[in-house]
Amino acid sequence: MLKREPYIDMVIGPQSYHKINDKILNYKKIKEKISETEFDTVSKFDELQKIKSTNNKISTFLTIQEGCDKFCHFCVVPYTRGPEYSRPFKQILEEAKNQIKLGSKEIILLGQNVNAYSFIDGKKEYRLSHLLKELNKIENLNRLSFTTSHPKDMTEDLIECFNECSKLIPFLHLPVQSGSNKILKLMNRKHNIEFYYSIVEKLKKANPNISFSSDFIIGYPGEEEQDFEKTLNLIKDLKFINSYSFIFSPRPGTPAAKIKKINEQKAKERLNIVQKELFSHQLKNNKSLEGKEVEVLVENKMKNQNSFFGRTDKTTGVIFSSKSCKPGDLIKVDINSSNQNNLFGKHRDQNFIAA
Ligand code: SF4
Repeated sequence: MLKREPYIDMVIGPQSYHKINDKILNYKKIKEKISETEFDTVSKFDELQKIKSTNNKISTFLTIQEGCDKFCHFCVVPYTRGPEYSRPFKQILEEAKNQIKLGSKEIILLGQNVNAYSFIDGKKEYRLSHLLKELNKIENLNRLSFTTSHPKDMTEDLIECFNECSKLIPFLHLPVQSGSNKILKLMNRKHNIEFYYSIVEKLKKANPNISFSSDFIIGYPGEEEQDFEKTLNLIKDLKFINSYSFIFSPRPGTPAAKIKKINEQKAKERLNIVQKELFSHQLKNNKSLEGKEVEVLVENKMKNQNSFFGRTDKTTGVIFSSKSCKPGDLIKVDINSSNQNNLFGKHRDQNFIAA
């Protein structure tokens, strides 16, 4: 980029953004183009840790892991974010406790491969399940979740958390990408459909109330009609309540970018069919909640309206009226209508549980 575009003075990678001030000051002095794209994850988190957060949001996104060692053939993350790195266990707990003191009611643990989290302290290995169990004990916290997970890293101890941790929401984003074993192999996904089903079954056993969302890449090089049918059948079968679907788009430098793409029109037609199916499940699921009561974590009062916004324990957005609630409350809302993305209702003010 520096060679190609004369107007670019600096390239600073995502693992070096803590150095941005120094780099700008340095550039002003030396007037030479700067490239800072090392995978210096340890130093980044050490630096960021020194900045005392004053964020008082109801939901806190807390990065616990970065990078990826899986090398799916379509993905740039292993090249741009480097190898898997997990932040120190105690550092994460301290940060979470600080955020909760500042008013957070929900902690969302983040990582490109969040469930590959593994931090060794002496002889002890701390995994995501240890983190969830510790966070679950914190009194003023209402909800816990984590994203994004790889099916391969859904270990037994982590699955058990969906039974043991009362604050862990009954919802998991678990990308599958395709319903065809042939395509999963071409993608280098390191799991097959039978394995994916076995994980879903175990999770349902741990918490029968659990729902799922997923990611789908449609029109991957080599995808034939029968592969596409398998993806569609998987969607019909597992009834994801929310999902992301895209047509395959080659990323420069990845193995998949070198393979011949399938016909673009065909890929578009397949994506339309898949999205129709996914959206209809989403809508059906929201409609099934009309006339029912749902528990909502209040996030904010909506601008210029007399309504509030919050989320169910499955992350669906809820817009509702209320006379007494405030951000951070966990309340009951009667749902009276819905669309594909949101539920609409009224707070049962008289039954409200203060945060
Ligand atoms: S899709 Fe996920 S698991 Fe695969 S390489 Fe990218 S970040 Fe890693």
